Amino acid sequence: ACLENDISGTDNKGFKGHDMLAPFTAGWQSTDVDPLIIEKSEGSHVYDMQGRKYIDTLAGLWCTALGGNEPRLVDAATKQLNTLPFYHSFWNRTTKPSLDLAKELLDMFTAKKMAKAFFTNSGSEANDTQVKLVWYYNNALGRPNKKKFIARAKAYHGSTLISASLTGLPALHQNFDLPAPFVLHTDCPHYWRYHLPGETEEEFSTRLAKNLEDLILKEGPETIAAFIAEPVMGAGGVIPPPATYFDKIQAVVKKYDILFIADEVVCAFGRLGTMFGSDMYNIKPDLVTLAKALSSAYMPIGAVLVSPEVSDVIHSQSNKLGSFSHGFTYSGHPVACAVALEAIKIYKERNMVERVNRISPKFQEGLKAFSDSPIIGEIRGLGLILATEFANNKSPNDPFPPEWGVGAYFGAQCQKNGMLVRVAGDAIMMSPPFVVTPEELDELISIYGKALRETEKRVEELKSQK
Ligand code: PLP
Repeated sequence: ACLENDISGTDNKGFKGHDMLAPFTAGWQSTDVDPLIIEKSEGSHVYDMQGRKYIDTLAGLWCTALGGNEPRLVDAATKQLNTLPFYHSFWNRTTKPSLDLAKELLDMFTAKKMAKAFFTNSGSEANDTQVKLVWYYNNALGRPNKKKFIARAKAYHGSTLISASLTGLPALHQNFDLPAPFVLHTDCPHYWRYHLPGETEEEFSTRLAKNLEDLILKEGPETIAAFIAEPVMGAGGVIPPPATYFDKIQAVVKKYDILFIADEVVCAFGRLGTMFGSDMYNIKPDLVTLAKALSSAYMPIGAVLVSPEVSDVIHSQSNKLGSFSHGFTYSGHPVACAVALEAIKIYKERNMVERVNRISPKFQEGLKAFSDSPIIGEIRGLGLILATEFANNKSPNDPFPPEWGVGAYFGAQCQKNGMLVRVAGDAIMMSPPFVVTPEELDELISIYGKALRETEKRVEELKSQK
C-alpha cells in the first residue's frame, strides 16, 4: 500500500480504525488512514467534515442524477413518511406509490413491451431476482436443464452471491468461492484493449459474437438460460460497446432461445443521452434491471421489468404452485416508490434526456481534448459517462507498473484540488449528475487538467528513477 497515493481524507482526525467493515476497502485503509467523511451535498458538489468542497464527478456511485439537494424529492419522501411510512406488498396487499411506480416504469420502457415490475432495495437484489425468475420460468416450461447464465468479463452486476457471480471482476470472486458454477463469462467488448491488429470494430464484434456462439454450443444450448449485459459497462471501466456488437450478440442469443437481461442500473434514465441504454443500442431485452437513478439515490430502490412472454409463464406457474414465493419486506417500499415517482416526474418535466444531450458535448469534448497526453492510453465515453485509462506509449499492452499507482496518484491530485473521481487501477471513471452545470463542467475540466499535469510530472520522475 502506498500511503502517498491514498485518496482518503487527511484531516478527519480521530476516525482512523473506525468500527465499520467498510465496503470495497482494504483493512489497512480503515486502520491506518482517516476516512474521507462527507457531510453535505449541494448540486454537483459534496462537502467534507472540514467544510471542504469537492465536485462529485461520480454522482455518489453513479446514482444521484438530480444532484445533492433536490427539494422536491425531500418533499415527496416527507409527505409519504407523514402519510404511510411503510406497508408491504405481499399477498396482494400493497400501496398506491408502488402500483403507480410499476405502471410508470412499464409505460416508460418502450424498447420492448414490458408487462410487470418487481421491486427490490438494490441493483444486486434485482439481479438475484432475475436469476430466480429465469429459473422459475424454465422450470415452468419443463426445461430443468436450461439454467446457466452467461455474463461478460469485467461486467458489474452487484455483490450478493448470485450478482457477484454474474459480475466479471476477479476481485469479487477471490476468496468468496465464486462465481457459482452455473455462471459462465464471455469476452469483455473493449475494442481498444482486445482488438487484433487491423481488426475493425465490426470485425471485433463479429468475433465476439462467434465466441459467444461457440461457448453456447460447447455447453449445449439446452443448458443456457440467459445472457446478461450492461448497455455500457460501468464499474468494469466505462466500456461502450463496439459498432454492431449488440445486433450480433442479440442474434446469437435469440437463435438458441436464450433470454436477454439488460442491466440498466447505470445507463437508465438519461445517462447515455437516451432514456434507457436499450434505446441507444436497439436492445430488445426480455428482462430489465433498474436501480440507482430510479430514485436519484434519495432512497434505496431497485426494480426488475418483465416482458409479457416471461411474466405469462410465471403467472400460470404461480397459479399452479399457489404463490409466487419471492419478495422482500421492503419490495415496493412506499417512501422509496414515492421518491422514485417524483424523480421520474422531474426527469420528464425538465426534459433531462435532452439536457444530457445538450451538456454532454462539453463534458466529452472537454476531457477528450486531453487524449494527447503521453500518459493517457484512451479516453472513452458518451453522454455523461466517461473513463480515462492511463497507459505507457498509448498502448493497452504497456501498462504502468502497478506499484507506481498512476491512477491513484491522479485521483489524489484531483481530491487535493477539490474533485472526487472513481479510481480503479489505472482507469478513472466519471459520471456526473444530470444536473451538472456548464460552470461545474468548466471546474471539472480545469481540475482534471491540473491533476493530469501533476501526474505527467510524477510519471516522468518515476521513469527517470528506473
Ligand atoms: N448492476 C450494475 C450495472 C451496477 O453498476 C451496480 C452497482 O454499481 C449493480 C448492478 C448493483 O447495484 P447495488 O450496488 O445497488 O446492489
